[in-house]
Amino acid sequence: MSSAERPIAVGPASRSREAPLLPGAMLGVLGGGQLGAMFAMAARRMGYRVTVISDSADVPAARHADRVEVVDYNAGDQLAKAAAGIDAVTFEFENVPADAGRAMEVVTRVHPSPEVLATTQDRGREKAFLSLHGFRTAAHRLVESPAALHEAAEAVGLPGVVKTASWGYDGRGQLRVADRSQLQAAWDALGARRLVLEAWVDFSMEVSVVVARGADGETAACAPSLNVHAQHILDVASCPAPVSAETAAKAQDMACRLAAALGLVGVACVEFFLTREGELLVNEIAPRPHNSGHLTIEAAATSQFEQQVRAICGLPLGATDAISPAAMANLLGDLWSEGEPDWAAALAVPGVRLHLYGKQEARPGRKMGHLTACRPTVEEAIAAVTEARRRAASPLGLTEVSGSSPSRLP
Ligand code: AMP
Repeated sequence: MSSAERPIAVGPASRSREAPLLPGAMLGVLGGGQLGAMFAMAARRMGYRVTVISDSADVPAARHADRVEVVDYNAGDQLAKAAAGIDAVTFEFENVPADAGRAMEVVTRVHPSPEVLATTQDRGREKAFLSLHGFRTAAHRLVESPAALHEAAEAVGLPGVVKTASWGYDGRGQLRVADRSQLQAAWDALGARRLVLEAWVDFSMEVSVVVARGADGETAACAPSLNVHAQHILDVASCPAPVSAETAAKAQDMACRLAAALGLVGVACVEFFLTREGELLVNEIAPRPHNSGHLTIEAAATSQFEQQVRAICGLPLGATDAISPAAMANLLGDLWSEGEPDWAAALAVPGVRLHLYGKQEARPGRKMGHLTACRPTVEEAIAAVTEARRRAASPLGLTEVSGSSPSRLP
């Protein structure tokens, strides 16, 4: 086992006073998307019951729930009522008000703490937290006026990226600015009154680490995955990432230290830019399982979703060893532009597994599902998922599916 695959375990820092929640307990997940669905599947496999708390009943996680509570995320009384009978609540989406977690915390245990959510859902607060704890990030400034944006451009340098401080994800709420002439237009277009200007990072690659931390301070980090984006949305993730053992260990160590600094109980994903000089800059932290960690379902000893169950229930964390090199390709709504994709053709590619989230409407850019492949090498795994996705996109019946083998994939 290479050091990149080796789990990093940090010994217990303090003993939790919470008794472990054992199978049979009711777990709640705030948010009803695919991350909640995969959490619910892992929890139910382990014998837990699941309540999905969402602002809509028609959500992917509802298909895997014992109970669904439809709430307004801004209504504390509804949230407190929904929390009744739930032994522990977690999040699957950070764009819910931290106050929603606080309202539930009055009734039951909430992991991660709503304060972790409050720190990580605002880029200004998140970056201040990272700087305070000595984690390097891209040069940046938080701005609250067009004049301040111009001053920040002087200090940070351009090109850069202007990002809304809150409620942004998958590249929403961000604009690249090449020079000063574009600053005012970016301010007007984003329409927010708190923005972060970040210097453009000429990175060699983007990697991320899924880390879990228990209430007793134990941490466990997965090997870093390589993330390739298209239109600011994750396109393909693969593991192991093509980084040195030293860089992989450093990324895992940083993720564990970050989880500890946050006081995280649960799972988080730390996204990094690896600069051409070999430095790891923290891009952002998601205090929940992450799209880049979906491949842990097939390719790691413990999936990120089981790890979330274990961490919030106070159980020992699972091993993070990689079982196989693997790759994951997202299936966005665009793939449905010619009608239902050709799943038979996609699944004819050896080693490919299909995950569909059960979303009815296939809008461009919407995450509808993903493909994962475990193969002897990561290059073969990447080739398998990209080939399978290409075949799925072909109009039904026009795809040649016979005789495929990984060695023949482009
Ligand atoms: P974010 O929502 O901040 O993770 O940004 C989405 C994607 O945009 C990142 O994964 C990068 O591919 C790209 N990006 C964001 N910020 C920067 C930056 N400062 N320099 C270069 N690329 C960036």
